[in-house]
Amino acid sequence: MQIVARTRADLAAARAAAPGRVGVVMTMGALHEGHAELVREARRTCDTVIVTIFLNPLQFGPAEDLARYPRTFDADLALCTREGVDVVFAPGPDVVYPDGDPGVRVSAGRLGEVLEGRSRPGHFDGVLTVVAKLLHLTHPDAAYFGQKDAQQLLIIRRMVRDLDFGCEILAVPTVREPDGLAMSSRNRYLTPLDREVALTLVRSLRAGEAAAAEGASAVRRAARAVLVAEPLVLVDYLVLVHPESLEDVPEWYSGPGLLAVAARVGTTRLIDNAPLTVGRPGPA
Ligand code: AMP
Repeated sequence: MQIVARTRADLAAARAAAPGRVGVVMTMGALHEGHAELVREARRTCDTVIVTIFLNPLQFGPAEDLARYPRTFDADLALCTREGVDVVFAPGPDVVYPDGDPGVRVSAGRLGEVLEGRSRPGHFDGVLTVVAKLLHLTHPDAAYFGQKDAQQLLIIRRMVRDLDFGCEILAVPTVREPDGLAMSSRNRYLTPLDREVALTLVRSLRAGEAAAAEGASAVRRAARAVLVAEPLVLVDYLVLVHPESLEDVPEWYSGPGLLAVAARVGTTRLIDNAPLTVGRPGPA
């Protein structure tokens, strides 16, 4: 039997009764197959699976899409039921932030100021603050996050390590539509034309991946060539960075890299990324 908890008391009661290893998947609702894959991974490795559905106002800037973000609670619950979720925690903002905007927040530091953080100031402090609260409230053994939001995943890992949260953070690869578009709740905003144009992002990443053995400059060149050929994609950033420091890798670099892109298509801001190995492996 699935429990739907709306209050802290409901959640505490469900958590106290939860058997074995507990896994949590945190979401903002408008669930899709990407979220379902996180749940399935949790289901495979945990005895109790908790999904949180909370549209966190703290991580949206004043000019961002909080008001129009899709709200599909009934369909979200149906997906959770289908995937065998034990507890759905769906609090309102008054439950998560009973005193209004929290005066004290978790700071993402330098890693929160680059890439997404540069375009969305304060975003990662808002993410970390709610993730910290939800980790305290759900008290899981493991929490599952998508590689789709690579910078978020990295910063959450750092918070859990730096601040001794003591739970495992597990990554799940990006789930894509059959044509390659990364699944996202924001894909619902795309018109049929936008939807076609949006494929440029994954094509750009694929071109970068195909050039990976030739080194960093080749990756950047190949990925950029695809993006600039599509005038309807307004590029925010396209970077090849080290996956831990998020700093640009130098031309001579070989090793793990993260090719990451953010762009506006129509009225929708999309992000995607590809982890890759840059350069040729040296002699063993
Ligand atoms: P969101 O509801 O967009 O905040 O996402 C909740 C969680 O689902 C985050 O850990 C995301 O990284 C993850 N997620 C979103 N889209 C995908 C996807 N296409 N593949 C894998 N994970 C995803």
